[in-house]
Amino acid sequence: MAETRQPVTMDTIVSLCRRRGFVFPSSEIYGGLGSTYDYGHYGVLLKNQIRSLWLRAMVQERDDIVALDSAIILNPAVWEASGHVSGFTDPLVDCRTCKLRFRADQLELASCGRKPSKRPGETPDCDLTEPRQFNLMFETHVGALQDASSAAYLRPETAQGIFINFKNVSQLARRKPPFGIAQVGKSFRNEITPGNFLFRVREFEQMEMEFFVPPADAEEWYAYWIEQRLSWHRSLGLRESNLRVREHSAEERSHYSSGTSDIEYLYPIGWQELEGVANRGEYDLTQHTQHSGTKLEWIDPDGGRYTPHVIEPAVSIERIFVALLCDAYDEEVVGDRERTVLRLHPKVAPVKAAILPLIPRDEGMAGRARALYEELRRHHVVEHDEGGQIGRRYRRQDEIGTPWAFTVDEQTLEDETVTVRERDSLAQERLPLSGVRAWLDDALERDWRSPQSD
Ligand code: ATP
Repeated sequence: MAETRQPVTMDTIVSLCRRRGFVFPSSEIYGGLGSTYDYGHYGVLLKNQIRSLWLRAMVQERDDIVALDSAIILNPAVWEASGHVSGFTDPLVDCRTCKLRFRADQLELASCGRKPSKRPGETPDCDLTEPRQFNLMFETHVGALQDASSAAYLRPETAQGIFINFKNVSQLARRKPPFGIAQVGKSFRNEITPGNFLFRVREFEQMEMEFFVPPADAEEWYAYWIEQRLSWHRSLGLRESNLRVREHSAEERSHYSSGTSDIEYLYPIGWQELEGVANRGEYDLTQHTQHSGTKLEWIDPDGGRYTPHVIEPAVSIERIFVALLCDAYDEEVVGDRERTVLRLHPKVAPVKAAILPLIPRDEGMAGRARALYEELRRHHVVEHDEGGQIGRRYRRQDEIGTPWAFTVDEQTLEDETVTVRERDSLAQERLPLSGVRAWLDDALERDWRSPQSD
C-alpha cells in the first residue's frame, strides 16, 4: 500500500519547479528582480496547455465567441476613460520601523519585517503610516521624447483592448449580442506586495473574455458564466473540495459592477481568487463612447439600439499554473521507495508520454524506442529518455507529471510489444508496439479524476 503525505506548501512547489526546470527566478545572475520569473521547458509546455485549453473552450468549441489580440500599449486616453488613471489603485502603508511597504487591505497576508511570525501592525514596534492610494499601472514613454505628452501605460488588463474594438468586431465578425470577444496576453501591474510565487506577480498572462448581452439578460448570463468557468476548472482535474465560489458583498464590488464572484482555490496560503467573474453592466462601453465620441452600441436590424451589458470572466495563467501544481503534488512511499509525483490531468500534463529503452546500448531496443518516439512526437509532446537507471527515469517522469511511460525491453525484441506504466496506479500492461499511437490517442480522451479526490 502506498502511504501519502499532505498538505503541500508553496516552498515545496517552488523547489520542484526549480529542480525540474518549470520556473526560474528571473535575472538570477544579477541577483534577481523580486517576484519576477522565467519559465523553463516544462513551464512553457504547461502554460501552453492551459492557454490552448482555455482558447479551445472559449473560442474553438463555441459559435458565439471570437478571438482578438490587441496591443499592450494603447492610447493613454483609453485608461482615462476606463477609470484606471484615477482609480486603479491599492491602499499602501509604510512601516516606519522596518521600512517595508504593505497593502493596507491585505495586512493579514503579510509578515512583519522584524518579526515574520507576526502581521504588520501586530507588534508594539510596528509604526504604520496612514494608507495612501498607489496607482498600479506601469508608465512608459512612446517615441523619442520623454515628456508628459509621450507618457503611456503598459496595460494592467487585456479587457480594455476588447472594449475599444467592440465596433470593429461586432460589424466584421457578423455577431449580434449575446456574443463574446476573447483575448489572451500579458498584463502588467506594479503590485505593492507581489509574492507567493506566481500567485501575485507584476507581469502575468491574462485570459479574459467580454461577453456582450442584451441588458435584460445580463443576470442570467452572469450566473451562466460562473457555472461554466467553475466546471472548466474542474475539467482541468482540480479537486472539487479545493474550489468554491465566493460572491462579493456590495461594499467590495467596483461601483459599476452589479455582481462579482470569485472562483476561489484553496492555495497553501488559504482560499484565494483564482478567477473573477463580473457583471460590468454598460459601464465600459458607455465610458468609451463618451470619451472617444464613437458610439459603441448595438443597432438591431429593425432600428432599435442599446448599449450591451458585459459579463467578464478573467483569470491569469499563473494562478491556474500554481493551482494545478498544488493540486497535483503528491509524495508517497511505495514498498521501500519514496517518490514525488505530479498527478496532473493527462490533458494538462506538459509531457504526455515517455519512451524508454530499458537497455539503451542494446541496438534492437534503442532503435525501436527511437522509432516509436519519432512516430509519437508528430502528434503529441513526448520525451525519449535513455539516461540512467530505469527506476530513476520513471521517477523523473513522475515528478514532471508524465501520465504514461512506454518501455522497450527484452520481450519487445521477441514479440514486438512494449510495457506501458501508468503514473498514478503504477499498473503495467503490455501493448503491441504498432498499437501504441492509437492507445495513447485513446487514453488522452478518457475521463480522469484525481486519485487524491475525497
Ligand atoms: P487581486 O484582488 O488578487 O489583486 P484583482 O481582483 O485585482 O485581483 P482582477 O483585476 O479581477 O484581479 O484580475 C483578473 C484575474 O487576473 C484574477 O482573477 C487573477 O487570476 C489574475 N491576476 C490579477 N492580478 C494578478 C497578479 N498580480 N498576478 C497573477 N495573476 C493576477
